[in-house]
Amino acid sequence: MSRADLILRGGDVVDGSGGARLRADVAITADRIAAVGDLGALAADREIDAAGLVITPGFIDVHTHDDRYLLEEPLMPAKASQGVTTVVVGNCGSSLAPYTRADLPAQASLMLSDPKYRFPTAGGYFAALDEARPALNAAVLVGHRSLRFNAMDDLERPATGSEIGQMRLQLREALDAGAIGMSTGLFYPGAQKATKEEVAEIAAEMRADDGIYTAHIRDEGDRLLEAIEEAAEIGRLAGVQVVLSHHKAAGRTNFGKTALSLPLIEKLMASQRLAFDVYPYIASSTALLPAIVDRADRVHITWCKGRPEFANRDLDQVAKELGGLSRQDAAAAVIPAGAIYFTMDEADVSRVVAHPKSMIGSDGIPSDAFPHPRLWGTFPRVLGHYGRNLGLLPLELAVHKMTGLPAAEFGLKDRGLLRPGAYADLVLFDPSTVLDTATFDSPKQPASGIVEVLVNGETIWAKGASTGARPGRALRRQADTTRGQG
Ligand SMILES: [Zn+2]
Repeated sequence: MSRADLILRGGDVVDGSGGARLRADVAITADRIAAVGDLGALAADREIDAAGLVITPGFIDVHTHDDRYLLEEPLMPAKASQGVTTVVVGNCGSSLAPYTRADLPAQASLMLSDPKYRFPTAGGYFAALDEARPALNAAVLVGHRSLRFNAMDDLERPATGSEIGQMRLQLREALDAGAIGMSTGLFYPGAQKATKEEVAEIAAEMRADDGIYTAHIRDEGDRLLEAIEEAAEIGRLAGVQVVLSHHKAAGRTNFGKTALSLPLIEKLMASQRLAFDVYPYIASSTALLPAIVDRADRVHITWCKGRPEFANRDLDQVAKELGGLSRQDAAAAVIPAGAIYFTMDEADVSRVVAHPKSMIGSDGIPSDAFPHPRLWGTFPRVLGHYGRNLGLLPLELAVHKMTGLPAAEFGLKDRGLLRPGAYADLVLFDPSTVLDTATFDSPKQPASGIVEVLVNGETIWAKGASTGARPGRALRRQADTTRGQG
């Protein structure tokens, strides 16, 4: 090599493996990392002085609801600004594809509300991603709830054998089109009546493809441990890898329960392929569901279709204004709407974030008028707040949980590690200032300290703004991952 396209000079390279940082230059040619080391003699068309900065692989957001965001706002500033270079979409049982029914059941998530963004096949969704050319890479899961909407006229019962057969056919099409697996949200209306046998029989379709099964488990509160066991058993019955989504213990009566759930997860990991992710906040966010509002200390409305003025308001205040309604009645009166629920204990969140095996996933909801700050803040918050300020975990481990670990668990080929030959998905940040600035009051704020972000060798974020470049790719299981290749 006589000349590189780009050289980052003299940064501290944290390579994503968890190993110690190393002062080095990083050379990029086309979409790949060409060399790492002392490259003093090598010239480049462009040089970046990285002295005092850290260079890492791009962050992989393993838990997102960015299915529509990729198409509607392909620069994806909420993610690019954090250093995220790859997102995994289709989580919690909800995906834009495959969706073959004409109407929209009440149990469907807001993401599916616009027919323009519903795709009868996963192949159609992949084609839309290719056409949108987003700034970030994306890997795609199929939502079990979406499959149920297509196959079942009555969602309030377990699926029959022939309905399971239909769901398997649709999952098959998606796997062949490039989907990496299936997600469930057994907690949610529309999937609550699904048995573990139903899910395992559908998921078994993925066995030969080495598909991944991600689980928003049935209960994250009083029956947390039982729900973890159920998801693990589904993985064993189906013969596939399990990822437990956004691990937490919800509700005051369950504070401290991650001291039990983490050892259970470790025990399961010893005997089956199982992983888990977490977002670094004490509040959750999803649709406003009257049945769960009383479990939270506080409920904050993120959007409200019928009464937009209720967005960014506290549900208790709204209940008072509506004539002194109970929380549940107020929620029932204003839905459809979304909400943030303050339901967790800081000690539990810290324990899960610090765990060496937890991956980081934002679970952000881009369509919300006043989103949970995790949408813009997750990765810098782990690095700056939990890592640097609280000293909960070393930088090398924090980066590993965002890069090398998720790339290995999801089988993302040539991503997640900074080494020659890998794709040039990179983040350049200042370790002394990196921090989330998005708050519950002001949630749409780019983090501080993120200097430059590259995807496939092109800069997508620099000087606090999107560059306009859209070099992201739809990652397909057969071509872009190691899954299903024996
Ligand atoms: Zn979820």
